[in-house]
Amino acid sequence: MFSKILIANRGEIACRVIRTARKLGVKTVAVYSDADARSLHVEMADEAVHIGPSPVGESYLRGDRIIEAARKTGAEAIHPGYGFLSENPDFVDQVVAAGLVFIGPSAASIRAMGLKDAAKRLMEKAGVPVVPGYHGEAQEIVILASKAREIGYPVLIKARAGGGGKGMRRVEHPDDFAEALSGARREAKAAFGDDRVLVEKYVDKPRHIEVQVFGDNFGNAVHLFERDCSAQRRHQKVIEEAPAPGMTPEMRKAMTDAAVTAAKAISYSGAGTIEFIVDASDGLKPDRFWFMEMNTRLQVEHPVTEMITGVDLVEWQLRVAAGEKLPKSQKEITLSGHAFEARIYAEDPAKDFLPAIGTLHHLRFPSVGAGKSSIRVETGVGEGDSISPFYDPMIAKLVVHAPDRPSALSSLGEALKTSEIAGSTTNIGFLAALAQDPDFASGDVDTGLIARKQPALVASPKPDPDIIARALLTASGVGHLAPTGNDPWELISGYGHFHPLWRQASVGFEQQETTAGIRMRPDGRVEIRFDGQEDGVIISGDRQGAVAWPGHVTIFADGAAFDFKVPDPFAKAAESGNGAASMRAPMPGLVKLVRAAKGDAVVKNQPLLILEAMKMEHTITAQHDGVIAEIAAEGAQVTDGTVLVRFEETPAE
Ligand code: ADP
Repeated sequence: MFSKILIANRGEIACRVIRTARKLGVKTVAVYSDADARSLHVEMADEAVHIGPSPVGESYLRGDRIIEAARKTGAEAIHPGYGFLSENPDFVDQVVAAGLVFIGPSAASIRAMGLKDAAKRLMEKAGVPVVPGYHGEAQEIVILASKAREIGYPVLIKARAGGGGKGMRRVEHPDDFAEALSGARREAKAAFGDDRVLVEKYVDKPRHIEVQVFGDNFGNAVHLFERDCSAQRRHQKVIEEAPAPGMTPEMRKAMTDAAVTAAKAISYSGAGTIEFIVDASDGLKPDRFWFMEMNTRLQVEHPVTEMITGVDLVEWQLRVAAGEKLPKSQKEITLSGHAFEARIYAEDPAKDFLPAIGTLHHLRFPSVGAGKSSIRVETGVGEGDSISPFYDPMIAKLVVHAPDRPSALSSLGEALKTSEIAGSTTNIGFLAALAQDPDFASGDVDTGLIARKQPALVASPKPDPDIIARALLTASGVGHLAPTGNDPWELISGYGHFHPLWRQASVGFEQQETTAGIRMRPDGRVEIRFDGQEDGVIISGDRQGAVAWPGHVTIFADGAAFDFKVPDPFAKAAESGNGAASMRAPMPGLVKLVRAAKGDAVVKNQPLLILEAMKMEHTITAQHDGVIAEIAAEGAQVTDGTVLVRFEETPAE
């Protein structure tokens, strides 16, 4: 076994690999960018090396710097995680040339599976079923269009270099072929620098079922059963599970045989996944699945396989890379129970899943499952960490295991409902709704399910008066903070001893602002009198499930997170006074470019800085003439409400 390895990745997967390395007594080296200087994977590793600025092109994709870091620290091997350099055969060549071990397959295996068309031809030769279609060299539109007619509509045009669902177009009718082709080519060119495509049959009621395979350097290859990843949104996996619901012994035998044949055909070593597309229009039939592609690395969803087999796949990766044989034979690998994984993202389902960023002011995950279920949380962040715009906005993977699918699913629902995140919008409500969907629950899932039901799955509940009251209580500080003595509400309330003090508080939910007077009653409960109403409501003074963070209050109730904005009275005061003002970030983002400095006299509407937020650039301009007292720094991460620009008291003439 190695004595020290370097992990060329970040986030949850870096933490995941470090955990297993530690278990095996292997020392770890983390690499990190500027944005990750204080992140969890850096903290967990024995050593850490800074490899560059935050953008991935200047850090996590810099193979040269990563190899240099391994050399400097004396690491013997590099684990690539997933994404980044994990499927880059040139990087593998460089690692090997530097005298290091790449914890993964050979560069030749990666190349063999790197292009969808070549991989399909290879699989066809090996006798693995591939989706009916054309994956030859010809790219002329007349040839492709006539192939499409032969295959039969609907067809799917796919970029041969494709990944992440890019460069893919479904075509219903021959008349639309030309336009779809040019769209797919444009997208493929932009994303992969290669606009060559293949055309295949669009499978009806498709299910995505993949098989985990493992090979060693002695010619052995085994499978570790299947995972079902049919719950997808825009070809991205949302909830994965193992085993596949409705799997029959015949279908499993046919699929896993094909997967092992595929792995052996390229002398595969390490962890890999063979992805199949299945026509489930008539249930699962052994003659209705086809090879789609092979992922030559550890998958994001590998934990569901670990949960049902009890195998630590990262441990196997390290052992095989260190030259050991596969720890188990096929017969020794058994399947037990059912597992789900839900990917928790910082994104806003109600805004068509727009990625979100922010600081995770509050982060709680359940640690124990109900009954016979168990829970595993894979994350690369802790409370107080930020989700930055530089990387994938995944916060955590919530993994559950139970003896059977219904109990695993109810455990997943429960785990989602008791997860609490404040500081960023998340998809937890959407995941919980999907886990409860009757079709999903019955195992009747195809890749179109989420799109068909999206409006219902993303509907977010509105807060009822009780939840608004709890938000007001939290925002007011009543019963929590000592009276400050300069609040007019306290002064007019007279003798606090006999007439408990009233405080005023406002909270905003979406466009709706609510203001109320709040006081603590002698019995410890709280009375809230909404503006313009005679009678108050009385709630307990309990702050359970309520979190205050800068400019906000989040209330957790019934599995939903209600995020209220709390108007900052100081900001209002500053903005109304004598031309002095501060301009605040309207949403969380990254200060990309600053065009003015402290002391500069600026004029109304002059561009001051560019804020990158929600993947778009927003120019922040001066709201009036003035002299700048303070301006955010270039490269700063801001949350919404952060002061970007503060003007001096007296505006310039
Ligand atoms: P990428 O490499 O871009 O992720 P894949 O080839 O893995 O592309 O396909 C991604 C997803 O697209 C699959 O999981 C499946 O949902 C859908 N898909 C792919 N091929 C077909 C097909 N022939 N018919 C129907 N859906 C397909």
